Parts: sequence; structure tokens; C-alpha cells
Amino acid sequence: MSFQKIIGEDLPINYLKKSINKERISPCYLFHGGIKWVRDTAAREFAKALNCTNRDNGEPCDRCLSCKKIEGDVHPDFIRVKPGGAASRIGINKIREVKEKVHLSHLEGKWKVVVIENAHRLNVESANALLKILEEPPAFTTLILLSPRPELLLPTIVSRCDRVRFFIPPRDRVLAWIEDVSGWEREKASLFYSITGGDEELINLWKEMEIWELRGKILELLKSKKPIFSRVSRLTELINEKVKTTKKKNKEAIEKKMKEIRAVEGKSSAKDKENQYLSEVEEKIKIFLTQILSLLYSLLWDAMMHKKGRKDILNSDSIIIIKKLSTCSMEELEGKLKILEKARFSLERNANLTLTFASIFWTILDAEPE
Ligand SMILES: [Zn+2]
Repeated sequence: MSFQKIIGEDLPINYLKKSINKERISPCYLFHGGIKWVRDTAAREFAKALNCTNRDNGEPCDRCLSCKKIEGDVHPDFIRVKPGGAASRIGINKIREVKEKVHLSHLEGKWKVVVIENAHRLNVESANALLKILEEPPAFTTLILLSPRPELLLPTIVSRCDRVRFFIPPRDRVLAWIEDVSGWEREKASLFYSITGGDEELINLWKEMEIWELRGKILELLKSKKPIFSRVSRLTELINEKVKTTKKKNKEAIEKKMKEIRAVEGKSSAKDKENQYLSEVEEKIKIFLTQILSLLYSLLWDAMMHKKGRKDILNSDSIIIIKKLSTCSMEELEGKLKILEKARFSLERNANLTLTFASIFWTILDAEPE
């Protein structure tokens, strides 16, 4: 039966099954913690169980028409909302659609279930619109907000939700999922999981921004015997080039899209959309830079593990660099990690990090800026 494929989450799953058995369903849930696959699957199984015609002790049957339709994403009372891309926000239009749909009568199921993926990506306007729905929730309707970052949601939304926290599933299971979604082999999947925590949106971003290729170039430069000065400037250049080409590519795509929008919707609404798209590009670049910081972090982490004589290092293809980094003392390595953490913090606060990457590379290569 279908909740059973979610292994190692007895606490949250039993809680959900109990609410189904008692038919005590909250108008809004917040599923957080764990990994995306677990949150997604739990939400889908919950929707199935609520509408299943052969439910058994809180478990959906997986065979009735309703279960099959929800599994295939074709059930009219199972509504899913998600951001458009790796760095997109959930705009007001999507929440307006939800509002319309939840106030229509139920089409097939007993329960209308609205799943909002990456709910922390609601923008202010759409979050407020969602709040209005939650203030007067229609009968037999439940909204499930999914988010790995619940701290970014409006507190007024969180306070209306029944919070359900998940845990991290066994590593093998997560890796199999990453391999499946990304098409990468096990070694890459494993490294990706260690560096990023395994988020599906990040898989797409890594592909779009060719982060594996960039990682290869960074590793080469870290390893190279060229003077530190030239290596730092080349590394900084690589990052800046990537940022520049991404901006250019995205801006061209936006311009093309804007031409179509202006023709259909007029200039004023087009301007809002254009600003939204442009801020999405900025956000994407921010996430990209965070990934580069995480890459560097993982190398320093490995150096610490190597020093401790541990074999379970993450960047198993970069042993020469790790050995080189581990000639630093433990205190020095910890100091370097702290600098990366600080950079990450400033990045979240909107600092222009492309400028400070040069000094970060100096730090990693253990040299003082001239
Ligand atoms: Zn069923």
C-alpha cells in the first residue's frame, strides 16, 4: 500500500493516517523537513487516501479510479501549484486560480486537495492572497504547503498550518532518486547530494548553468602549479563569465517573451512581468553563487576529514587537491570554513559576491591578497 513506500517516516505518516481515520483534517498543512521526494509523495498519498473508495486503515488502495487519477495527475480535485523554474516565485495569478478552483463545487472527489510546492517561493502578493483563502477555508478542502525552507514563509501563514515534519530517508534511497531525475551516474549523484542536500530544482540549475563543467575547471586551477595570483584571477574570471553569460542569455529570452506579452496584455502589466522575470534572474545567479560556495566548502570539509584519517570523503575524484588543502592546520581549515559561511550569509543579504570571490579564492589557496 502506498504510504508504505515512504520508509523511515513513521511519526509523520502515522500522524497523517490517524487524522484520516478520524476524519479530522486540517484546512492547511505545512510539510517540511526531509527531502523533496518524501514531501511530494506524502502529499500525494494523503490526497489519495482522503478520496480513496477502498481505503484501509488510512492507506489508499492504489487501485480505485480516484487513486489512479491522483497518481496520474489527472484528478480534477487534486490541484498542484509550483513555481515556474529554479529561481521563480509563485505569482499572484497562480493563487487566484487556486481561489477560483477551491470555491467551485467538488467535481469528483470528496476532498479537494491543493498542494503548493516550494511554498517559500510565494511572493508577498500571492502569500497575502493565500492567507485570504486560509481565513475562510471552504468545506472539504485542504491545502498542503511543501517547503524545505519554512522559515521563509510569512508567520501569519505558518501559524494557520498544521506542521508536519519529515526526516531524511536512507542515503541509498535518495541517491537512487537523484540518479533517476538527473540521469547522472552514482558518483555524481552522491557528490551532488553531499554538496546540495539533493533538491530537484538544484538539479535543473546545475544542468542549466553547467556547474559540473565549471567544477572541473575550478578543480584544475586549484591543482595547477601556476602562480597563485594568475590562478585566483582566472578563477574569479570563470565565475564572472558565468554570471555574465547567464544574465545575457536570460535577458534575451525575457525580451523575446516581453514582445509577445506586450502585444497581448499591453504595456503596464508587461512592465510588472518584466520586473518579476529580471528579479528571477538575479535570484538564479544568487543560488548559483551559493552552489559555488558549497563546492568550495565541501573541499575544505574533505581536507578536515582527510586530516582526521577518515576515508569517507565527498570529492573522491579530487584527492590531490584535498591532500594539498590538508597541509593546513585544523585551526586554519576551520578559519577558512568560517569565511565561506560568512560569505554565504552576506549572499543571502544581497551582497554583490562576484566581487568578493577573488578574496575567497585567495583564502582557499592560502595566500594573502597583494
Ligand atoms: Zn483507492
